[in-house]
Amino acid sequence: MRRVQEATMSEAQVDPRRRVPRTDAVLADPRLAAATGSEGRAAVKAAVVGTLQRVREGKLDPAEVVDAVLAALPGGLRPVLNATGVVLHTNLGRAALSPAARDAVAAAAGHTDVELDLATGRRAKRGRTALAALHRAVPAAGDVHVVNNGAAALVLTATALAAEGREIIVSRGEMVEIGDGFRLPDLLESTGARLREVGTTNRTSPADYERAIGPATGFILKVHPSNFVVRGFTSSVPITELAALPVPVVADIGSGLLAPDPLLPDEPDAATTLAEGADLVIASGDKLLGGPQAGLLLGAAPLIERLRRHPLARALRVDKLTLAALQATLTGPATPTWEALRVSPEALLARTRHAQALLAEAGVEADVVASEAVVGGGGAPELTLPSWSLSLPFPYASPLRAGATPVVGRVERDRLLLDLRCVPPSADHTLVDMVVAVAGPAG
Ligand SMILES: *Cc1c(COP(=O)(O)O)cnc(C)c1O
Repeated sequence: MRRVQEATMSEAQVDPRRRVPRTDAVLADPRLAAATGSEGRAAVKAAVVGTLQRVREGKLDPAEVVDAVLAALPGGLRPVLNATGVVLHTNLGRAALSPAARDAVAAAAGHTDVELDLATGRRAKRGRTALAALHRAVPAAGDVHVVNNGAAALVLTATALAAEGREIIVSRGEMVEIGDGFRLPDLLESTGARLREVGTTNRTSPADYERAIGPATGFILKVHPSNFVVRGFTSSVPITELAALPVPVVADIGSGLLAPDPLLPDEPDAATTLAEGADLVIASGDKLLGGPQAGLLLGAAPLIERLRRHPLARALRVDKLTLAALQATLTGPATPTWEALRVSPEALLARTRHAQALLAEAGVEADVVASEAVVGGGGAPELTLPSWSLSLPFPYASPLRAGATPVVGRVERDRLLLDLRCVPPSADHTLVDMVVAVAGPAG
């Protein structure tokens, strides 16, 4: 690193400090004036100041200042093409919203009747139509509520039912970490509830739960180990048996399936879990449901009412945009998540071969290889979906991420794989254009 910097400095050959442009002069550049319109003057000025410092230190040629400032601007969230073959990629925002949900978000972005009954002109229950759609989707629930995400649903439940030192009984086999250091036990304890761990990592019996129940019990929590499996000498207690115990049973199913899905036989769903006797089911909105980030709470009406009325509920309530997207996801056509899980390998192969042919026309050589896609997002860890990918030299990975439309693939054994499964078919041409741009003329 140091050597590279030294080389740059000696190349500059003059004292770079004498050639440092003035901040005002740089800001007056037409390209930066345009950026000021979209990014704000403060952000552009901060980027100019930082960039000029690099010139002063001899790390940047003064002629490159404007380009460097443009590259340093933070910008907004950028749409990317998910060619990873991971359907619910947490770093790429999990579920992609359906066109219907996107339209609903746009329509709700202005003023909207989220909390007003237009017929009477009176205040109405916030998000009532989205909640009704969720309830219709899972009639087995006595009532439903929606908060910001699955974690918020857990916090609200723990606070309302077990705060101030009451106990949440949970199996040691279900004390899970979801990802990026997010550990369920830490989250639950942050509410002031106490965790009463029962059983062992691999085995928990009904008697373990029974012995733990006492006057301090808030509820039993059953957590779906959504991102791992324990195999071998194992046992856990099904909801049907826990439901016979004299305390509420809360099931965190994670994935957000509302009804059984034959494609995902090992994923629990809300309807079945409620039918088995859970008092409350917690799930995410942006996993297999394919909707916006949200925490779904489905269960016995008095329990839901208690959660809704808790003062903390106000801090966890969802935005009108979320409600709009959730409703359209529940009532609209199939989501991109659903489609990506079900796209046929034959159709995928045809698209991939077509992209390969377009690349060949532009002089870029790519192989088509069999690959494996996964659900991701902490769901269905055992399931692999047979897929097809374009295979390219791995040094393409970084420039493809930096392109006008970033393309994110997956590096496997020194090759960059681009799996079209989660790329909207209408974007196949864009993906090809981005690869051609990276490969340069005639590959
Ligand atoms: C994903 C997940 C969560 C967290 O949900 P978020 O919506 O990401 O907050 C909690 N529990 C389980 C079992 C999960 O899979």
